[in-house]
Amino acid sequence: MDNTCISPDERNEKFLSKLKARNIDVHACYQCGRCSSGCPVGDFFDFNVMEVVRLAAYGQEEKLLHSHTIWLCAACETCATRCPNEIEIAGLMDVLRELALRRGIPPAEPRIPLFHQSFLGSIRSFGRAWEIGMIGNYKLRSGDLAGDMKLGLRMFMKGKLNLLPHSIKGKSEIREIFSGKGKEYDR
Ligand code: SF4
Ligand code: SF4
Repeated sequence: MDNTCISPDERNEKFLSKLKARNIDVHACYQCGRCSSGCPVGDFFDFNVMEVVRLAAYGQEEKLLHSHTIWLCAACETCATRCPNEIEIAGLMDVLRELALRRGIPPAEPRIPLFHQSFLGSIRSFGRAWEIGMIGNYKLRSGDLAGDMKLGLRMFMKGKLNLLPHSIKGKSEIREIFSGKGKEYDR
C-alpha cells in the first residue's frame, strides 16, 4: 500500500508492526531511565533514549524519523544492556534510520549517513575497512576536505593508515550480504 494514501493511525499501526516483526517490544518500557542515563552521547540528542522508546510506543514514526537522535546514536548497545526489560533499543535506532532512508527523509545529521556509505563502500569492495580510501570518499561526498587533516597526518605518521587496501578471502559472502539488503522492510 502507498504510504501517502493511509491515515496517520494506519501509518502508526504499520510502524508498530515493523517493530514487532523485529521483536522490539517498546510497550515493555516502564520509563525507568536506565537507558538514557547510560548513553554516552545522550547529551547531544534532541530526544533522549527513553523518549525515543516512548514515542515509538505511541507510533510516532514521523517525529522520530526527523530527529537528530537516530543519526547520533553510536549503536554501542549500552542502553539495551542496561534495560531491565531487554528492549532492543539499538535495534530500534537501526529500524528508524533504515525507514528514514527508505522514505527519502533528509537526515537531520547529513554527514553521518555519508560516512556510513563510505564505510560500507569500503567493506563492499574489500571485505574490510580501507581507512584512506574511506576517508577520501567521505571527504569528497561531504565537501569537508580540510577537516581533521592534522589528526589524519598524525595517524599516517604512526603507521595507522595503509596506503593500499587489503582484501579478505570470501568476498563472495560479503557480496551476498549486500545483495540481501533492503528486503526486510517495505516503506
Ligand atoms: S531502560 Fe528499558 S524500561 Fe527503562 S526507560 Fe529505558 S527502555 Fe524503558
Ligand atoms: S546504542 Fe545509541 S542510544 Fe543506546 S546507549 Fe549507545 S549511543 Fe546511546
